[in-house]
Amino acid sequence: MASSIGSWLVVVAALLALPAAAAIIWLLRQREELRAKWNAATRDAETFSDQVWQLSEREERYRSLVEAQGDLIVRRDGGRIVYANAAYATLFGVSADDLIGSRMKLPRLASRPIVVLEGGARSFDECMATHQGERWISWVETAVLGPEGHKVIQRVGRDITARIAAEDQLVGARAQAEAANEAKSRFLATVSHEFRTPLNGILGMADLLSDTGLNAEQATYTEALRSSGEALLALIDGILDVAKVEAGKLELVEEPFDLVPLIETVTELMAPRAQAKGIELAAHVAPDLPARLVGDRDRLRQILLNLVGNAVKFTGCGGVGLSLRREGTGIEIVVADTGPGIPADRLELIFSEFEQFEAGAGERQSGTGLGLAIVRRLVGLMGGEVRAESQPGEGATFRLVLPLPAAPGAAAIPVPHWPRQHVLLVAPSAFAAGFLAETIRATGAVVSVATTAEAASARLGETATKGQGAITAVLVDHALGDAPAKDLAEAARAAGIADCLILLSPFERRLFGQPQAAGFSGFLIKPVRMRSLYERLGAGFPQVSPAPGARPAVGAGPRPVGVGLTILVAEDNEINALLVTRTLERFGCTAFWARDGREAVQRVEASFAGTAPPLDLALLDVRMPSMTGLECAREIRTLESRLGRAKPMPLVAVTANVAAADREAAFAAGMDDCLAKPLERAALLRWLKQLSRPPAGSLSA
Ligand code: ADP
Repeated sequence: MASSIGSWLVVVAALLALPAAAAIIWLLRQREELRAKWNAATRDAETFSDQVWQLSEREERYRSLVEAQGDLIVRRDGGRIVYANAAYATLFGVSADDLIGSRMKLPRLASRPIVVLEGGARSFDECMATHQGERWISWVETAVLGPEGHKVIQRVGRDITARIAAEDQLVGARAQAEAANEAKSRFLATVSHEFRTPLNGILGMADLLSDTGLNAEQATYTEALRSSGEALLALIDGILDVAKVEAGKLELVEEPFDLVPLIETVTELMAPRAQAKGIELAAHVAPDLPARLVGDRDRLRQILLNLVGNAVKFTGCGGVGLSLRREGTGIEIVVADTGPGIPADRLELIFSEFEQFEAGAGERQSGTGLGLAIVRRLVGLMGGEVRAESQPGEGATFRLVLPLPAAPGAAAIPVPHWPRQHVLLVAPSAFAAGFLAETIRATGAVVSVATTAEAASARLGETATKGQGAITAVLVDHALGDAPAKDLAEAARAAGIADCLILLSPFERRLFGQPQAAGFSGFLIKPVRMRSLYERLGAGFPQVSPAPGARPAVGAGPRPVGVGLTILVAEDNEINALLVTRTLERFGCTAFWARDGREAVQRVEASFAGTAPPLDLALLDVRMPSMTGLECAREIRTLESRLGRAKPMPLVAVTANVAAADREAAFAAGMDDCLAKPLERAALLRWLKQLSRPPAGSLSA
């Protein structure tokens, strides 16, 4: 019995113990899970702490990097500083912590305009009074997200004080250099002007002296005096031109001008020199060029005279060719010669001032060494380009391209229409033959060129016997030789060709006698003018469009155009005055000399009052002591209106400075014209002719 009770008790106890065990097991499991979670949390915490450390280390690295850059950083929230780095704080002489929370600002002394950058940031430079003195800071200002989640203004700045100082220094140095350069150019211009005045006296006197019946020896000395003076004048003019271009004072005019006459003037001016050396000089203007262009004719002539002058100077045999053709909307000008050429390493250098080198066999040519420097400057001012090409021993070629537009309404160069003609051109020349052939071909004619008399005779023989390619006209260059040229005229006649012209230099013309006597139908003077060629050659052809006008008359020395004219010359320089009065007298005028402006006005007053002869013209030097030419003109005009004189007296300013401003000043003072010093005969003659048109003396009556 007792044992069964015990068993029951065991069973009951076991039944009671069951939930407790389950609870213990659950508890044990919970403890395990908690431990796992704890371990995971501990690991996370360690990772997190590692990351925090890494982040702070990275931040520190960036911060030290920024600080090392020296950039100034500040963030403001509505003016209140929410962040500032140490560099920014040093501007105030405090620590960054002292700035945080404050509204401290530095006084601004100067600033430069704000520039808005891409993305909306603004950049500006400020000069501020800082703890370290005046500093220029270059700022970039942007809006960034602040710690409280709204936008704050961040400025990052860099100290540019040193750069600004360097810039200022540079600007100062540049201004100083420019001022020095301008002073140099002004000095050169003044000195050149001062040189010119006495030199013109010397030249003019030499000129007058040569007309006084000198013996041969005296004439030689006078000529030497004149040519030395001219060389010096050329040098001074060159220096003056360079100085003017350097000082930006050279003004180009934009005026329509006739192209062909300009080119012919250049070749005709240079031809005597070329012919004296026994070399040829020829020019060719492509007939598709406009007859009138717009630009500065006188400066273009100066450029061409320089280039052609050099080519003639340096060429010993062969010749010089000047050719012009269309290039885009402008023109291309080529000056080629058969001279010694220019070494490759000199092709650029020769355009520098005073750059000369010995050409040929150590032969030092005369010159200023300024010509090409001026050419390049002028071409540059015109917006063009010039360059030299050469193979030593094979001549030099100067090529320039100028943007000279056609004048409004300009026609093409007139060219006749000769489609049925066949011209035989016999010329041994380097340039002229080709140029003439091109000029004739432009008419539609066929041109055969023969460089020797033999080849030409053979060609004429074919025409005579077989009628092959029947030649209708022959042009023979006398350079072929006198006898061969005359033989060819004979052969042409035998072949039944009536039109046979001979090309002669002016010197050859004098010796040649009557061309008709030698079997020629006529002659042409070299360098051949385009219009003369068309006129003479076409004289025997049908369908030739007649070329209008004739050759302009060439100045033939002083003629008494001024007879009966009374002219006042106001000039303080005695020699210049003597020169002008003598020249006027040689033109037949009566000239009175006034030594200064005051005397000139008195002389005019007397003539108005009838106590001195009436004056037809007053030439007033602009630079005179006591009263300038301009003051003189103003006084005379006032006098005229006070006296109620109906006809104003012609007043002409004479000045070494004929820039646009000087001319304007002269006209504003009441002058009728402004002439350059030294007074050119042509300009003087123009006035005398104008005054002679009405009965002499009537102008001031
Ligand atoms: P210069 O007054 O001496 O002619 P330039 O400036 O006109 O001065 O020319 C500079 C130099 O260039 C000359 O001295 C000469 O050596 C060289 N030169 C110019 N043109 C020619 C040319 N057509 N043939 C050979 N050399 C030339």
